[in-house]
Amino acid sequence: MRGFGHRRTVDDALAWVDAQSVRGGAETVPLLEAVGRVLADDVTSQYDVPGFDRAMMDGFAVMAADTAGASAYNRVRLAVTGEVLPGTAVVGRVERGQAVRIMTGGPMPAGADAVLPVELAEIDGTSVYVVGEVPPERNVGRRGEDVRVGMRVLNAMRRLRPQDIGLLASIGMSEVSVVRRPHVRIVTTGNELLRYGSRPEGCRIVDSNGPMLVGLVSRDGGAVTDVRIVPDEPSAIRGAMDEEADVLLVTGGSSVGQEDHAPRLVAEHGELAIHGIAMRPSSPAGMGRWGRKLVFLLPGNPVSCLCAYDFFAGRAIRIAAGRDREWPYRRASLPLGRKLVSVVGRVDYARVVVVDGKVEPVAISGASVLSSTTRADGFVIVPADREGFAPGQDVDVFFYE
Ligand code: AMP
Ligand code: MG
Repeated sequence: MRGFGHRRTVDDALAWVDAQSVRGGAETVPLLEAVGRVLADDVTSQYDVPGFDRAMMDGFAVMAADTAGASAYNRVRLAVTGEVLPGTAVVGRVERGQAVRIMTGGPMPAGADAVLPVELAEIDGTSVYVVGEVPPERNVGRRGEDVRVGMRVLNAMRRLRPQDIGLLASIGMSEVSVVRRPHVRIVTTGNELLRYGSRPEGCRIVDSNGPMLVGLVSRDGGAVTDVRIVPDEPSAIRGAMDEEADVLLVTGGSSVGQEDHAPRLVAEHGELAIHGIAMRPSSPAGMGRWGRKLVFLLPGNPVSCLCAYDFFAGRAIRIAAGRDREWPYRRASLPLGRKLVSVVGRVDYARVVVVDGKVEPVAISGASVLSSTTRADGFVIVPADREGFAPGQDVDVFFYE
């Protein structure tokens, strides 16, 4: 067995990802499926919303001038000439001395410029007595107060929120143009692996990386098209890598040992751009191209797999999906409770917990111990030029949640 002769820097690998990744094209999806997707184009409204002046309260549509000086001691009588309900068009207009009964959301009759709320009205048969003043415009929502014709309501590259979907519906849209999700294929390699749903048995383990990667990819806006386990056989791995995708994630066998076939295959049949990275965990990670596909070789140890995904593959997927390329993790600067040791020359991905506002490294934290990432609140990155951080020093914590 031979080791890596030379490891590339994390920055080199990130630069490669940035240079190779492109945002996907646009596709049209039904409005109800668009939440969380990234808008491909600016959206401009063809409509005023609402398309008419309307009552904002239940009461009477009146001419404000008719209510001038009205009070409980100086009641003003108006003749009730009709009723407007939401969704029905109005006929006729309100003249001086008249009122039309109106419900919230009903269109304002012509002539009326205010709504007298029921609290200021005493009803008596076909008359209404006004017991308080309403100034012009009071309780009236004007046409276009929400959205105007020609207004740009949402900008391209926005990630659609539920309320955005509501707004798009309000301007008459039933489908929307969004950035296409990159199609991602997950190939898990290892003779020892059982498919998820199996029970661990004998000298075999259940694949954790496949299910974990499905979650990571969908979080980052990718569409997983296939997850499969293949044995450590070059022909089987090659067959799986030949299938169509935008991004291929291969886990396991990414190093330079006898059973590490994937890097050799990529070097032979594609382009192995980077292999071996000065980081811990994940140093046996690699990346390159296979036809038009971007390929990421993720180490089999689950923590390494998570880390290499987050550093490199996730970034490529987020770029393709039109998302922010940086980590989707909340970040906070907090003091270290204990020292955090690293080595100059490599980037460390240290799992940490936050106890009483202080950051503590997770004790058992080997690359094979996936539970170190489930017990951790997040992680701290120790840059390559540092030997670590001293207790009391503020560090940036990236929170998994
Ligand atoms: P490898 O990178 O293939 O040399 O695997 C390194 C270690 O990670 C070995 O102990 C494997 O059994 C383990 N491993 C590989 N793939 C997976 C996986 N998909 N899920 C859980 N553990 C794995
Ligand atoms: Mg293996």
